[in-house]
Amino acid sequence: MANDDIHDGGCLCGAVRYRAVAGDSRTVTHCHCRMCRKATGGTFVTWVEFPAKDFVCTAGQPKTFRSSDLAERAFCGRCGCQLTFRAVADPAGLAEAIWVALGGMDRPGDIEPTHHIFTDNQLSWLRLDDELPRWPNQLPWLRLEDELPRPTVPEDSSERRRITAGDGVHEGGCLCGSVRYRGVVDDSKTMGHCHCGMCRKTTGATLVSWIHVPTKDFAFTRGEPERFRSSHIAERTFCGTCGCQLTFQFAGDSEGESESLWITLGSTNRPEDFEPVRQIFTDDRLPWLHLVGGLKPWPGQLPWLRSDEGLTRA
Ligand SMILES: [Zn+2]
Ligand SMILES: [Zn+2]
Ligand SMILES: [Zn+2]
Repeated sequence: MANDDIHDGGCLCGAVRYRAVAGDSRTVTHCHCRMCRKATGGTFVTWVEFPAKDFVCTAGQPKTFRSSDLAERAFCGRCGCQLTFRAVADPAGLAEAIWVALGGMDRPGDIEPTHHIFTDNQLSWLRLDDELPRWPNQLPWLRLEDELPRPTVPEDSSERRRITAGDGVHEGGCLCGSVRYRGVVDDSKTMGHCHCGMCRKTTGATLVSWIHVPTKDFAFTRGEPERFRSSHIAERTFCGTCGCQLTFQFAGDSEGESESLWITLGSTNRPEDFEPVRQIFTDDRLPWLHLVGGLKPWPGQLPWLRSDEGLTRA
């Protein structure tokens, strides 16, 4: 990343915009930690370091979530996009830096990643073809562990649909634990990775992967998510407290809801169980993001699904 590069970015809905100046930024890290998955719903997140003094919100203000004693994450309260990560306690001068989620940046393809971190938590089927240094945990010179054991709160008994544990039932939820869900995964139509710019801009993540669930076999079991109509044909849900993206659903044809929805792989409790078999919107793939494996590529949406959602947000 060149010095004094100016980087603009913001969330999908446009409520929050920012500008960051690269200065002497040193790291652009792909993070494979569980918390980043649960904060975004994404499959992995890339954090671009900027001097905190050179970062400013140019429109709106994000909501913040204190994800541990050490760290605060910021996201758009209207569409849920994760925007930044920063240290709040400052044992080692870390608050002088802010990390911006690459997925929210306007020109993510211009950014050159430098490291992988928390590869001990990397999904075993996620194989990325690059030669970047890999660290099993945090970068050793940062010594920042954003690990917070989440409180365990009992599930609601007031499910809208009763879905009981059994074959194919998967549970998931957001990082803060406010919203949880249960769904029966229909393996035959399990979907894959999506490279589209809208998925990046709603999650902040670098790669988003979707798992198909019949709508009738899905229920939120705790809390109610925020809903965001990301286009005239689709609605996405996310946690209003921590921002985690949870579901995508095409708008119903008439009054009813559509028969299918997709849950974010990063929000599921056992993401290892889902090995994506396809990648879609490969025309929008980031230039350095090479996934290894027999993933069938599609340049746009899967042809048997409805038309592209299209990135037309202001
Ligand atoms: Zn937004
Ligand atoms: Zn992380
Ligand atoms: Zn949450």
